[in-house]
Amino acid sequence: MDAGTKVEKSEQEWREQLTPEQYEVLRRAGTEPPFSGAYNYAKDSGMYRCAACGAELFPSDTKFDSGTGWPSFTEPATAEAVELHSDRSHGMTRTEVTCRRCGSHLGHVFDDGPNPTGQRYCINSLSLDLDASDAESSTG
Ligand code: FE
Repeated sequence: MDAGTKVEKSEQEWREQLTPEQYEVLRRAGTEPPFSGAYNYAKDSGMYRCAACGAELFPSDTKFDSGTGWPSFTEPATAEAVELHSDRSHGMTRTEVTCRRCGSHLGHVFDDGPNPTGQRYCINSLSLDLDASDAESSTG
């Protein structure tokens, strides 16, 4: 797929495509309960893709166990895969992470991650779809 091609759908189309739980997180910037997600403890190899549009977001070899209850990554597949936005909701100042291709909400990024990047991309499992057939990162 062409990572530069934007995916634009109406909210009605997203509602039809996504489960209600996915829609709440991806399209309404919701947050799944901690330790509830399918990928929280996952150690499988592959590429985590956007659950809404399929864009490649996070290689499995960037995933680490943060203990927070959400899948956590040190960096995206490419800098262009995601967009960052200042988020002042809920009485906090955080940096929201969205999929650049379709604009869907993924989670937030914090500066308390491990080496080498020091970044912690805290991402909802509901926003991700692990593509285990993508072995690109399996030797990492
Ligand atoms: Fe997307």
